[in-house]
Amino acid sequence: MTTLTKQIEKKKKSSGGNMMDNVLEQFNSAAEYIDLHPNIKRILSITNNEIVVHFPVKLDNGEVEIFTGYRVQHNNALGPYKGGLRYHPTVDIDAARALAMWMTWKTSLAGLPYGGGKGGIQLDPSKYSEAELERITRRFTFALADNIGPEHDIPAPDVNTNSQTMAWIADTYMSTRPPAERTANHHVVTGKPDGSGGLEGRDRATGYGVFLSIKFWSERNNETLEGKKFIVQGFGNVGYWVSHFLEQEGAMLVAVQDAFGSIENQKGIKVEDLLNYTKANDGSIVDFPEAKAINKEEFFGVECEILIPAALGNQITERNAHQVKAKLIAEGANGPTNGEGERLLLERGILIIPDILCNSGGVIGSYFEWLQNRNGELWHLDEVMPKLDKKMRESLNKVFEYSEKEGMELRKAAYCIAIKRIEKAYVQRGIFP
Ligand code: GLU
Repeated sequence: MTTLTKQIEKKKKSSGGNMMDNVLEQFNSAAEYIDLHPNIKRILSITNNEIVVHFPVKLDNGEVEIFTGYRVQHNNALGPYKGGLRYHPTVDIDAARALAMWMTWKTSLAGLPYGGGKGGIQLDPSKYSEAELERITRRFTFALADNIGPEHDIPAPDVNTNSQTMAWIADTYMSTRPPAERTANHHVVTGKPDGSGGLEGRDRATGYGVFLSIKFWSERNNETLEGKKFIVQGFGNVGYWVSHFLEQEGAMLVAVQDAFGSIENQKGIKVEDLLNYTKANDGSIVDFPEAKAINKEEFFGVECEILIPAALGNQITERNAHQVKAKLIAEGANGPTNGEGERLLLERGILIIPDILCNSGGVIGSYFEWLQNRNGELWHLDEVMPKLDKKMRESLNKVFEYSEKEGMELRKAAYCIAIKRIEKAYVQRGIFP
């Protein structure tokens, strides 16, 4: 193989490249079904803006490292670009593009006044100190400059970023504004800590939404969640919170996989015990005493009723879809199932609640935070959760009904609804000039 062919092969296998194929395949299939006008299809098939920044940061040892950060703005027909920033070695331009597109469909489906964007930095955060991560985040924010803004493009947490990351972004962005404008820019990011403009409940919003999706499914089947076994890939913010809420309803966590290993206990893994264990163990689930270690490849084949991928994209594919024992897959992650994987699962009658619906609780929570900041209000948890509940159920109802009416899988139904809303905005407004 020549070096070039090797590079092309590598690129094809990069998760970003695969995610791009995945999101475009999903989009094309729905666009064809609703007979989307070719002009609008052309617009939605590409991204509006792609910002790539290289910036230097001084490390703790005095050396300077150059980092590469991305922000892709896919579409803003319905409102400002919205979507998270992730810190991960797999972040590249293709990954940011695909994830930005997913945000456009997600915000549209949720009926929010937002478009879609996504970005991040290609790095492994475990290799840097807290102080270094702060300088990296602040310098990245400074490099993005006016490419983000509270009415223009509003980042949020994603893989390996959290409320602390958002607090640094907000502080840096606000510090670079003229003094009289500083506090009016608080809503440049969402997912901030409560106490610094954050929303009570934003931390659990995504996991709660995934939980509600699962509960909605069980209610439709006239079943309860009592005693149902579930497995979770990823025990970060989403994985933990969805497990927490499911356990409260009597469901039982029986296996978990994270970046470091996989564990199983068919008698049940106590969610809070696992959380406490990971906190004392650099975030890893490995060697959790009340479960046995299993091979990475065995994880999707674990006996259970519900499978929740809540980590990265392209995890359930043609390589492992045949192993899946679950009846329901609730996509907490973005793009966890690829096209081939999905076809195999559907053939076997496995239901998939798609990412753009299932994990939309996060961006709905972000919208509430943005409104709170914009209106100078402070909302409390007991008002936030019912509001989130209502919005999630509206979306779930719409998608399940459309899917039944049109006789199609939930993902395609969700896409049809999302794309139609954007199409309507273009038809009403026309194309400048
Ligand atoms: N990163 C989350 C997502 O993928 C949240 C985005 C947001 O709140 O803007 O949906």
